[in-house]
Amino acid sequence: FDLIILGGGPAGYMAAERAGHAGRRVMLVEKNQLGGVCLNEGCIPSKTLLKSAKVYDDALMSSKYGIMVEPGAVSYDQATVINRKNKVVKILVAGIRSALKAGNVEVVAGSGAIARKSGDGISVEVNGDLFLAKAIIIATGSMPILPPIEGLEQGLTDGFVLTNKEILDLKKIPETLVVVGGGVIGLEMASYFNSVGTKVIVVEMLDRIAGSTDKDISDILMKVYEKKGVTFCLETKAVKFSAGKVKIEKDGETTDLKAEKVLLSIGRHPVTDGLGFSELGIEMNRGAIVTDAQMRTNIPGVYAAGDVTGGMMLAHKAYREAEVAVNTILDIEDVMKYDAIPAAIYTNPEVGAVGETEETATQKGIDFEIANVSMRFSGRYVAENEGGNGICKVLIKKNTRKIIGCHLIGSYASEVITTAAAFVEKELTVREIKKIIFPHPSVSEIIREAIFQFED
Ligand code: FAD
Repeated sequence: FDLIILGGGPAGYMAAERAGHAGRRVMLVEKNQLGGVCLNEGCIPSKTLLKSAKVYDDALMSSKYGIMVEPGAVSYDQATVINRKNKVVKILVAGIRSALKAGNVEVVAGSGAIARKSGDGISVEVNGDLFLAKAIIIATGSMPILPPIEGLEQGLTDGFVLTNKEILDLKKIPETLVVVGGGVIGLEMASYFNSVGTKVIVVEMLDRIAGSTDKDISDILMKVYEKKGVTFCLETKAVKFSAGKVKIEKDGETTDLKAEKVLLSIGRHPVTDGLGFSELGIEMNRGAIVTDAQMRTNIPGVYAAGDVTGGMMLAHKAYREAEVAVNTILDIEDVMKYDAIPAAIYTNPEVGAVGETEETATQKGIDFEIANVSMRFSGRYVAENEGGNGICKVLIKKNTRKIIGCHLIGSYASEVITTAAAFVEKELTVREIKKIIFPHPSVSEIIREAIFQFED
């Protein structure tokens, strides 16, 4: 083969499609399901569930918008929601399978490992067979971090403690859920189960939720969810799992929380063990494969893309890294840039973010100006969000007047952020953005509103 790819998630299938369409002989090895974590147990299933929760929330709040529903007339059916989720996943996985077929990619089911490198190329072993390629892309993704907490193993075996995989398949809605880890995955699942009637408690080690999200935005998000009934235990650690209970510790004091189920979502680590990577001498940093800006590892002919390279573990970062790796293999000049990767949290309200926050810009010593505007400056936002209190922050560099970051909380934030990401990527100035026409009324007009707070 010209190229063998280990892993059929977003990085792997994107690389295979691109290289296949460029006429290269490509083999893709996948040990589970094509589509990887994103399609089967991540982005897509979670967003499918969250859509159902949103429809339910809207139905329950419909009287605010003049739609009267008899009390008790709206109900939620988890089995139908899960069936629909499975259908959505099936459609999308089938789409990937046919795109790979169109690119003449040979898909091999099994676990692949690098066997050796010789003058002829690199050998990969799958199910006892050896395959030779001129180049390899490692796209083995990531898996949940399972810390050494007492009772965790038993909890996972008993189905009391769940990871993202099991929680997205729960047939019955639990009465109580403790979410350990208030990052993006934890918050999205907290949002879902809160909407469908579960009593949710989020346990987070940091003094804030949503990790590196802008502090004001994470505070607003937490207040919104507290109002909806979610309890947050910040600066708190889960220290023990036992049947129906989670022991938590804060300032040296422990308390037991009752829980029907627990979601463990404290982060993910790259999948690299036992796959021949260290034997080949591939450089790693804290478990992640180290690459240059063309996605080359330190071993000639071996590339890596996606979660396995660490950093932001996002599907669209995986796609782009895969494209850069393939372009490098095809001798097309390309470079991976990390400054304008948008991020979204699909809670209700949504969060969108790109580029520097006030905190990161200050840490880097960047001289910046900031505009902080209420989302209520957007006519469409007001029309569609009774009682909404979102904000949008835009950061520019003081001397160059170029946009360096945008952060917002409100409806469609996950879509609106693409506009801001394009501006940051293209390093547009305040003056240039002021001349761009936005559709009216649209929530994205909020960026224009924020930009007009700055002098040219
Ligand atoms: P993966 O998707 O992990 O795919 C790697 C594949 O490699 C897997 O299919 C695995 O089976 C296979 N594999 C591993 N080892 C081998 C081997 N030795 N041989 C053969 N195959 C192997 N990202 C977003 O951008 N937006 C979101 O909304 C979002 N939501 C998420 C929600 C959840 C609950 C989770 C868990 C993640 C979410 N993510 C989201 C992150 C996103 O899923 C990952 O960033 C993305 O899947 C990374 O793609 P990847 O190809 O690098 O790895």
